[in-house]
Amino acid sequence: MTKRARVLPADYPPPIETQRELIKRELDAAQDRIEVGVAIVGGGTAGLACANRLLQLLADDPSTLERLGEVPVCVIEKAKVCGGHSLSGALMRPGPLEGLFRELTREDWRAEGFAFGEVGREAVYLLPNRRMKLRIPPPPPFRNRGNEVISVAALARYQERRAEAAGASVLTETAAAQLIVTDRRVRGVRSGDKGRGRAGEPLANFEPGTDITALATVLAEGSWGSLTGAAIREFSLGAGREPQVSELGVKEVWRVANPLDRVIHTLGPWPLRAGARNAQVGGGWIYPMKDSRTGEDLVSIGFVIDLDYADATTSAHDLLQLLKQHPLVERILGGGERIGWGAKALPGGGWWSMPKPVMPGAVIVGDGAGLLDTVSLKGVHHAIRSGVLAAQAIHGALARGESTFNAYETTLEDSQTGRELHRVRNARQPFRRGFIRGAPLVGLAIATRGLLPTGRLRWRRDDERAMFIGETSTRYPRADGAYTFDKLSSVYLSGNQTRDDAPNHIRIQREVPVALAQTWVWLCPAGVYEVAEDARRDGTVTVTVNYTNCVQCGAITAKGGRLTTPEGGDGPLYRLT
Ligand SMILES: Cc1cc2nc3c(=O)[nH]c(=O)nc-3n(C[C@H](O)[C@H](O)[C@H](O)COP(=O)(O)OP(=O)(O)OC[C@H]3O[C@@H](n4cnc5c(N)ncnc54)[C@H](O)[C@@H]3O)c2cc1C
Ligand code: SF4
Repeated sequence: MTKRARVLPADYPPPIETQRELIKRELDAAQDRIEVGVAIVGGGTAGLACANRLLQLLADDPSTLERLGEVPVCVIEKAKVCGGHSLSGALMRPGPLEGLFRELTREDWRAEGFAFGEVGREAVYLLPNRRMKLRIPPPPPFRNRGNEVISVAALARYQERRAEAAGASVLTETAAAQLIVTDRRVRGVRSGDKGRGRAGEPLANFEPGTDITALATVLAEGSWGSLTGAAIREFSLGAGREPQVSELGVKEVWRVANPLDRVIHTLGPWPLRAGARNAQVGGGWIYPMKDSRTGEDLVSIGFVIDLDYADATTSAHDLLQLLKQHPLVERILGGGERIGWGAKALPGGGWWSMPKPVMPGAVIVGDGAGLLDTVSLKGVHHAIRSGVLAAQAIHGALARGESTFNAYETTLEDSQTGRELHRVRNARQPFRRGFIRGAPLVGLAIATRGLLPTGRLRWRRDDERAMFIGETSTRYPRADGAYTFDKLSSVYLSGNQTRDDAPNHIRIQREVPVALAQTWVWLCPAGVYEVAEDARRDGTVTVTVNYTNCVQCGAITAKGGRLTTPEGGDGPLYRLT
């Protein structure tokens, strides 16, 4: 491979003027806007935890409730239903959810259909190659006894029902397209237009967006939120912090013939190419899910990869198909049926990459605030806790007649979430030297519970890794449609319903070096990007963007493109992910 063929995605930035396009700097006239008490952007785990906690506090505080007006709490969610765009492993630490809905037992969680059993047995394997496995004692981050296997898509639906019953107004199929900022304060958000055609032209069913103004705005957009990114720039919330980096996970849910009796994690090196040249780091999970309502035995299986890799032919979707070829996995899934598929990016930077989570008029919760521990792959309980803490800070301020929510930042840092993320602050970066070379330092950071290495280990942005066209793709299995699957049939299973004539919500440069084009082709789990099959391995090519396949995983934003908010209601309709 020639040096010429190495390409930095950062040299081909997406065509977008973030601050001009995503920030609205004046309010529409009072009669044209919707006024709410607290506007929560994102009806995922964190946003709905915030809504439910706020409503609990307001139920005991009628005078503050009255001050918040006719719509005290409004949740704005772009998916068809809450949870429609949520995806996770998901092994959850139970504490924060138990604290939020104290009256519920775990049996109630299972009866409601979002929880699938407590972890008893667990196993961690090193996979040296496609045939062998080496069982190792679970390192501390992989000890999960007592945690619960859940579906965040189903949990969000439950949280939505609870929030609506408690008085929230939940606007689904509504994208928040702009942050409204006047006089250096967030005033709310502008919902996106609906009914535009491919070229942006209004169609017969066109409905313009509306200003939704609020006393407090909660950004709960998950990873790579458009408005969160604009807010971070507008208020310099990332100043003095490390850049955010990302990982991408692809998940399948299987109905299986025999129950799986343990939680399994696989660490590399296989199916990755773990040497410094390809720079691939990642791992797999297999979790048992017993549906107590139907009695069915299900399995959640997924593969997560760090987006700092260098080989353009790296594909999380195809690596998962490859992982399924291992006898360890074949024994579990064989004879079963795939019933769910999805993909999502997750923030990987941890403690040093967390933006300041408070700005005038608004706060950030959940993945948007970078609250994810990628060493143990845990974010659900942090998302819930941050939503609860934000609700308490906002309620406290509004009850006192104040308009700043700074208490949230300190309570978050001092909370168990702050402590857990601080402990693993330097435990992930060493892998960026390569899986093998980084492993001893990662082990040291975990063994000393964060005491060593000292100082602040740096992160480099994922789009600053030079890409080349390598050979990882030569090992991907051919899709047979029964056990291994291609991307398009997977998108179909995700329930994706993006309108065929919707405007394009993906921003990339169309004429790029072939190594970058191939990066996008392989990166995208939904097969959105295409280049001509006879494109040379050198030079510039034209990229075709089949954006209606997009499942809004967000990964493109890490590697040189930008996912912007599509029209409300577009995208996947996840159920069990
Ligand atoms: C592959 C994978 C595996 C994981 N495994 C685990 C695990 O086993 N255990 C664990 O604890 N954690 C795990 N995590 C992390 C965990 O899933 C997340 O930390 C958690 O779900 C984050 O919740 P959230 O509410 O912040 O974000 P999300 O669940 O992403 O919710 C954000 C919501 O906001 C909506 N939204 C975004 N922008 C807008 C907008 N502008 N307008 C309207 N709506 C908008 C989205 O549609 C979405 O519904 C995993 C994550 C991934 C991706
Ligand atoms: S187009 Fe981008 S955001 Fe959409 S599924 Fe593909 S990689 Fe993810």
